Amino acid sequence: MNILEKLYFYAQNQGQNLAIRSGDSCLTYQELDLYSGRLANFIQRSCGTDKSPVVVYGHKQIEMILCFLAAVKSGRPYCPLDISMPDSRISDIIDAASPSMIFDLEQKRDGAISLKQLRDILENNEEMVDPACQVKGDETFYIIFTSGSTGTPKGVQITANNLNHYLEWSVDLGTRRADKQGKSFLNQAPFSFDLSVMDLYTCLASGGALYLLDKETQMDFKKLIPALAQSGAAVWVSTPSFADMCMADKKFSADLMPDLETFLFCGETLTNDTALKLMERFPKAVIMNTYGPTESTVAVTEIQVTRQLAAKNRPLPVGKAKPGTLLEIHREDGSLAQAGESGEIIIAGDTVSAGYFGRPDLTGKAFFTSMKGGQPHRAYRTGDKGYLDEAGTLHYEGRIDLQVKLNGYRIEIEDIEKNMIRLEEIVHAVVVPNMKDGKVKSLTAFVTGGDRPDSGFRYSKAVKDRLKAFLPAYMIPKKIVHMESLPMNHNGKVDRKKLGGMVR
Ligand code: AMP
Repeated sequence: MNILEKLYFYAQNQGQNLAIRSGDSCLTYQELDLYSGRLANFIQRSCGTDKSPVVVYGHKQIEMILCFLAAVKSGRPYCPLDISMPDSRISDIIDAASPSMIFDLEQKRDGAISLKQLRDILENNEEMVDPACQVKGDETFYIIFTSGSTGTPKGVQITANNLNHYLEWSVDLGTRRADKQGKSFLNQAPFSFDLSVMDLYTCLASGGALYLLDKETQMDFKKLIPALAQSGAAVWVSTPSFADMCMADKKFSADLMPDLETFLFCGETLTNDTALKLMERFPKAVIMNTYGPTESTVAVTEIQVTRQLAAKNRPLPVGKAKPGTLLEIHREDGSLAQAGESGEIIIAGDTVSAGYFGRPDLTGKAFFTSMKGGQPHRAYRTGDKGYLDEAGTLHYEGRIDLQVKLNGYRIEIEDIEKNMIRLEEIVHAVVVPNMKDGKVKSLTAFVTGGDRPDSGFRYSKAVKDRLKAFLPAYMIPKKIVHMESLPMNHNGKVDRKKLGGMVR
């Protein structure tokens, strides 16, 4: 059964069970099916033959999920956008997506369907969509926009087949116990990040209840700790950075979350230190490290992190490929590396994306057909560095380009730099990461242009304030340093290494 068939099955067979919880609101499986079917009918009637994506802008409202499902039931992909993005970036994405319909649950855009209108439709439109309309096979199910080195985000298209293949594996992931069905999952990531696909659809595909944690709750321990207890979560899905943040509160332990069975991590390095501390706080829970980019549908490798594994490996490996995925390591000249030899990680197989929405140029560079195993497979050049050991376990060793992960957020350094020079007086901007324990802790920008500032602190703050118009908060460098000129290396390029040394 594919995900939509499963949802229908659960609506028929366990319709009164909770599917989604957010604050005081909740939806049962029956409501999920009924309301998404009504909304899909509305989209279908309003958009006719226009099969362009449906943009859904909001933050953790349960209605967002109804909009996602309604879009795909009506035969259109959805594109989730979160409030963490500034308006100019949202506009860029909307221009790129040229949507057939926009749901704006934050009431910010004229001409979009507001939360109030949406609720009216859900109550009053009693017609259901024809199930034959739904997105299937190689049609796009969702489009998630990620940071792009050109300064504008690029939309990764994931098809129905990609998602269904991913779910065949992820429903089993970590839940090594016999009872996989009906577990409570925690949702930390905003829906505009593909980590949320891991909790949202793995939970729904296994008939569980998803507990949404909004940004406000995540930022305040007084709200977060009771919310974690209330979630009753058995499966935790987050970046390691979020678990690290929770561990700053001593109450975060098995006493607070006695039902917690599994931690699923993805998106950034899981350090030995974080894993070991979690084992102390949650002695009975299983800790899984998974790895993958948005372009290969959330994650493609898995490994259970035990004390033994952590004692033998620093950094921790990211695991073996899931069924349907082939991993290759390429040398710089494109030839295949041997076991133990580092190179670029290539992911091939059934969960690799169809490419970037409306960008055949970028798609052509990053995707290709691999003939590994004698059969053609869709393949993606990750830009990640790593090696496969003799046992076929993947070890991640950072990037071959200027992409970084900061608190789980994927950021192209050039995306920041290109947006910084949109400020009139800035001529050059070079952003360097500040590393600690193999992870990016913060970013510093070195800039030239304009008058020499009287106060470095005031200058930094003023530039950061103005950058809010172009960049989400998590992409704004912590510190902006004005320079008369930037250091050059012997190739005549900006010496990023030297600048990197200045932030340590
Ligand atoms: P995203 O597309 O936002 O999921 O980011 C994908 C990138 O995050 C990958 O290409 C890696 O660079 C990094 N990443 C994902 N999972 C892991 C992991 N388990 N350990 C280290 N880095 C990871």
